[in-house]
Amino acid sequence: MKLHEYQAKQILRDFGLPVPNGEVATTPEGAKAIAERLGKRVVIKAQVHMGGRGKAGGIKLADTPDEAYAAAKEILGKRLISPQNPQGMVAEAVLVEEAIEIEKEYYIGITVDRTTQRNALMVSQQGGMDIEEVAATHPEAIATLPVDPLLGLTDYGIREVLFGAGFTMEGVKMLAPILQGLYRAYLACDANLAEINPCAVTRDGRVICADAKMTLDENALYRQKRLAQYHEESIEDPIEAEAQRRGLAYVRLGGDIGIIGNGAGLVMCTVDEVARAGGRPANFLDIGGGAKADRVRNAVELVMMDPNVKGLLFNIFGGITRGDEVARGILEALATLEVKVPIVVRLAGTHAEEGRALLAGTPLIPAETMQEAARKIVELAQQAG
Ligand code: GDP
Ligand code: MN
Repeated sequence: MKLHEYQAKQILRDFGLPVPNGEVATTPEGAKAIAERLGKRVVIKAQVHMGGRGKAGGIKLADTPDEAYAAAKEILGKRLISPQNPQGMVAEAVLVEEAIEIEKEYYIGITVDRTTQRNALMVSQQGGMDIEEVAATHPEAIATLPVDPLLGLTDYGIREVLFGAGFTMEGVKMLAPILQGLYRAYLACDANLAEINPCAVTRDGRVICADAKMTLDENALYRQKRLAQYHEESIEDPIEAEAQRRGLAYVRLGGDIGIIGNGAGLVMCTVDEVARAGGRPANFLDIGGGAKADRVRNAVELVMMDPNVKGLLFNIFGGITRGDEVARGILEALATLEVKVPIVVRLAGTHAEEGRALLAGTPLIPAETMQEAARKIVELAQQAG
């Protein structure tokens, strides 16, 4: 789960790290008001879950509240496109912060390193907008330290990684508290990525976290009550957000064949099978085990929220989930929903016979195997145009 810059910065602030003063606005008027309160030159930053906002035009400096208004007006609602994110994202909020006079830009990051099975701390003197390029062309400019979970981040570890990145003892004195704070925040939030880029040194010699990026482990949200509130906000797709509210695992895939199945593995197979039959899956939707009628109805509703869907494929293997339950769910959903696209149903396993009997005499198209089901729905969707 990705956090917005302003959310990550609030966490860093809570952990005592130096962060510029600022607030979030969703309108140009709001941005202007914040700039007036701050009473100095501000920077207006698009709050979108993507890197490279600077290059995409999502970061603007403003000397006066009126300029802040104009900058926010230009950023809000505009699609920002960067090399890291070619399809782009629309900013619905901007962070308005006091601008800082940046002298140097460092990179500091922590993430999970699966090879060493440690959290790895990374540091570079070449921070700023081109860190990906630095990583690709000058990997030696980034020093890495695998952190022993029992020892934690030690003073000698900090010296080792900073010297490795070419810092002097002066740099160690300046950055050690930042590294310690970031590491504490990372652990306390169950993050799997925390980055400060740039970690800026100002003209007057202060260090400040000019940008912050964090992603959290969703599996730990049960013990991160305060951060769980950010979860829904982190989901960009409205159908995915609705699925989250309804407790269903839905992923939008962009095609036109809606897919519902039980069990993540089976649904992934079905997605592949539809693609192999020449179709483009609209979504992944796992209704899980023991799916009852109302759950199936919820699932159909979700899939049909996508206006591109031209056909719907059910692939159910009855184990815990009984075939007749699913059949009843499908019929109930159709009775209340007026689904206009063709629906192919493949039922196998526990109570599949009973399920098929319930579906007989309805417009639903039965299929014996997953392959046959995929072929049929792709054909029907193509016919439907
Ligand atoms: P990103 O491009 O999405 O990573 O956004 P950043 O927040 O890192 O901003 C990109 C660049 O904008 C930074 O590397 C800085 O050079 C510049 N920048 C960001 N905030 C400020 C600021 O307050 N003052 C100045 N002068 N430059 C800033
Ligand atoms: Mn950045």
